[in-house]
Amino acid sequence: MPHALTDLRVNTVTRPVDRSVESLEADILVVGAGIAGLTAAIDAKRCGRDVVLADALPVLGGQCVNSMIGLFCGIYGNAPEYHQLTHGIFDEMFPALERSGDIAYNRTHTQTVPYDEVALGRWFENLVSELGIKVVLGASISGVALDGGVLERVDFASRYGPVSVRAKGFVDATGDAALAWEAGLPCRVPERTVWGSQQIRLTGLVESAKPDPAELVARVAEKADEYGLVRRDGLAFFFPGRDTAVMNMTHVEAPLTAVEAAEAQLRGRAQADRVVEFLRTEFPAAFKDASVLAYGFPGRRQTRWLAADHQLTLEEVRHGTGFEDAVARTAWPVELHDRVSGYVWETFGPDHVHYVPLRSLTSPGARNLVAAGRCVDGDAAALSSVRVMGPCSAMGRAAAHTLDLTLGGDVHDVDLTALRDRIRDNVEG
Ligand SMILES: Cc1cc2nc3c(=O)[nH]c(=O)nc-3n(C[C@H](O)[C@H](O)[C@H](O)COP(=O)(O)OP(=O)(O)OC[C@H]3O[C@@H](n4cnc5c(N)ncnc54)[C@H](O)[C@@H]3O)c2cc1C
Repeated sequence: MPHALTDLRVNTVTRPVDRSVESLEADILVVGAGIAGLTAAIDAKRCGRDVVLADALPVLGGQCVNSMIGLFCGIYGNAPEYHQLTHGIFDEMFPALERSGDIAYNRTHTQTVPYDEVALGRWFENLVSELGIKVVLGASISGVALDGGVLERVDFASRYGPVSVRAKGFVDATGDAALAWEAGLPCRVPERTVWGSQQIRLTGLVESAKPDPAELVARVAEKADEYGLVRRDGLAFFFPGRDTAVMNMTHVEAPLTAVEAAEAQLRGRAQADRVVEFLRTEFPAAFKDASVLAYGFPGRRQTRWLAADHQLTLEEVRHGTGFEDAVARTAWPVELHDRVSGYVWETFGPDHVHYVPLRSLTSPGARNLVAAGRCVDGDAAALSSVRVMGPCSAMGRAAAHTLDLTLGGDVHDVDLTALRDRIRDNVEG
């Protein structure tokens, strides 16, 4: 009696000359599945729209899941009230992650929310599946059809072959404004590097012996050259009650060309390894048995962004300027990583709030495109304060509702009263 597997026949195949393209149609195409794109896709789907969500990575979650970011920032106002400034997806995410013990709340001048990135990733994946959002992963933009200011189609190169998505409305949530860039729309780049970071999650730590933040920074400043560290500061985000922490102690370029980006990634990992050696030696009580549980995907802060209808300015951030078309708000400090040794850190007072207008998400050259997340328009300092995850999510929500309200028309003509009614708790109260 032959074994059943001997029945498995094998065919020989060759790629057809007229290779077929996988073609999809949607009301709204969201490119980029980080916090901004996921929020946009979820909200657009809940508006009853057919949504395609595409990303160059083979997994959902963008940086918040895959780059070991560690904390949600910018969702709450400053001490002593810690008023919640962004709602939407966080109002369902936080209770769910609280139930499984996968988030905590960390109160200093600001309130941040450490989270377990594995649990967060699964939470998003389950929600996307439940809602029936069509997902295309491992797909990088290879071309954009823009005709008379209307985006019509985005083509992707995937490991499985070409994919093409036609839609009526588009969200650029790529972080690098890749959709706007490939469409030939004007974008902005900083004249000097805004540094990214290679984050790592360490395990085997003794939390009770963790160094005081000021002590850690002082020791890095003293010993950086000895260990070959490029930053003169550092942050350790311990997850309470577990033996792990995310370390934010490197500065790595975030190039926009493929080979340089790959080389930067390798340099970043080597920097992270030197950080581990430094910690094990200098703080043995807490880090003697530290080992790397995971290296995050390259962390990119401010690379290339949309040249939008309005560029948010540092003055508007400092003064908390209100806008008729405000779509997001935060109290997060200016956090500009524009020097290799550290970053500019400018905090705001207890009642301070600053806003992002819809015009910083829209392009003068496109009627059916809204950007969201870290690729919206600001001067370098202003953007550094609104690219954290609270306002990124609020912008994703606003992008979805703006497109839902204007589908087939022009996002510049959106009824602002109707939009505000839908996103009120992210900009008022
Ligand atoms: C090291 C580091 C530490 C940070 N710390 C914090 C923190 O503690 N708290 C906080 O709130 N914020 C923090 N931030 C900021 C915050 O994490 C990011 O700004 C935010 O996650 C950006 O979300 P996003 O959705 O705009 O973009 P991303 O998360 O970058 O997602 C963009 C997605 O677009 C995809 N994409 C890009 N180009 C293409 C293309 N051509 N084709 C297809 N897909 C494409 C990418 O693969 C990616 O998945 C940190 C950032 C860094 C880098």
